[in-house]
Amino acid sequence: MYVFLKERLEAKSFIDPQKICEELEKAVPEKEKVRAIIQKSLEKNRLSPSEVATLLNVQDKELWEEIFEAARKLKEEIYGKRIVLFAPLYIGNDCINDCVYCGFRNSNREVQRKTLTFDELRKEVEALVSKGHKRLIVVYGEHPKYSPQFIAETIRTVYETKVGHGEIRRVNVNAAPQTIEGYKIIRSAGIGTFQIFQETYHPEVYRKLHPKGPKSNYNWRLYALDRAMLAGIDDVGIGALFGLYDWKFEVMGLIYHTIHLEERFGVGPHTISFPRLKPAIGVDFKSKYAVSDEDFKKVVAIIRLAVPYTGMILTAREPAQLRREVLKLGVSQIDGGSSIGIGSYSKSDPETLKKSQFTLYDTRSLEEIIQELLKEGYIPSFCTACYRMGRTGQHFMEFAVPGFVRKFCTPNALFTLKEYLLDYASAETREIGEKLIADEIEKLEINKEIAKKYLKRIEAGERDVRF
Ligand code: SAM
Ligand code: SF4
Repeated sequence: MYVFLKERLEAKSFIDPQKICEELEKAVPEKEKVRAIIQKSLEKNRLSPSEVATLLNVQDKELWEEIFEAARKLKEEIYGKRIVLFAPLYIGNDCINDCVYCGFRNSNREVQRKTLTFDELRKEVEALVSKGHKRLIVVYGEHPKYSPQFIAETIRTVYETKVGHGEIRRVNVNAAPQTIEGYKIIRSAGIGTFQIFQETYHPEVYRKLHPKGPKSNYNWRLYALDRAMLAGIDDVGIGALFGLYDWKFEVMGLIYHTIHLEERFGVGPHTISFPRLKPAIGVDFKSKYAVSDEDFKKVVAIIRLAVPYTGMILTAREPAQLRREVLKLGVSQIDGGSSIGIGSYSKSDPETLKKSQFTLYDTRSLEEIIQELLKEGYIPSFCTACYRMGRTGQHFMEFAVPGFVRKFCTPNALFTLKEYLLDYASAETREIGEKLIADEIEKLEINKEIAKKYLKRIEAGERDVRF
């Protein structure tokens, strides 16, 4: 309660817009300086705000190529070839806020309001599990009916819903900021990451775009993930909605947020998201800060260099072609086979768009995405081992040192891919996938023989085998 009051009243925060603007104005991107910053990042160090500002100000095309190249290299070195797959599951779109850009905003009369019943929720989960999903993010509007108890109950229902061999093994959450007590109730259902996007880090712009409801309080949201960590949630995800304000300012905001969490809790965010604003039903918000595809790639590359160990999430808001390109620049997680109309996984509904928060631009099925990843040499992964072995938060950071990926993540990714190929894939996907597994297993430097035995156990019918 004390934290709640203190931060509501606190005028000053770890975001100082004037300081950020000054930093962006002063940073001169001299070639040698930029190259030294790139080198610091390649040595897997987090960059300082002034270093990030310097990269953001680069104009020289050649230097940008060097930045993109470094982002690709860093991604391969730290994350290997794995891409973690998940799906969003929208539980309900009632909302008491009025975010001007969102289809769910309270004053929108065109959207159809809907909250899943528990029976409908089970059907949605069955549909997702039947496609091969193991990781979900559950999403809610902000409304008194989505209380911490309700959220916890929906998460428990997700975990309890099984189909044959299949089950959801990690549920991440994107919901309204909670009190510490509220987070504790949600945590007790066994969540993965709690994700909250600040939308824009600029306080004045924020105030204009969030005119009503609890979300109108900038600081309540800015410190929302502090409260989550105080409640014992180790993995938190931050993000900004790109297109509301100047993209360079938002990248700086994300870096300051990361540093704040690191300084206060000894560990930064587990993931960073960088959604771009998309059209939505009943929304005629026009922004002069729309982010072009070119600038979007710069956002991704700079975040990768700035925070080498933080997971980066790219969603199906973006079209397939752009996803292909951006994936290489540092993304570690994507969604696949996503549908965001409430109830739209279990039944096809011509009115789906009317129940959606915004428009999706990559509507390919999970299998199509997996096949493409395999063809490009990536290892699609449904791994949830770290979280279930207690390797979260600080532990994750400790383990996320060279060697960890090769020892744990790559074999675990191969085990979950093997399960997917056996249980859900078409013959064509299975053939491509089996070949990739055979090649990758030979490349393992540690535990190769044990990994081969584990694969045999999966072939014999065992599931959820992991290091
Ligand atoms: N209602 C909660 C909240 O606002 O924190 C839960 C999350 S909301 C359903 C999920 C996220 O969708 C928001 O944080 C926002 O960044 C994003 N979003 C909202 N409108 C959008 C739009 N038109 N295009 C793209 N993303 C949007
Ligand atoms: Fe509600 Fe979230 Fe949409 Fe804002 S972004 S209107 S809080 S669902």
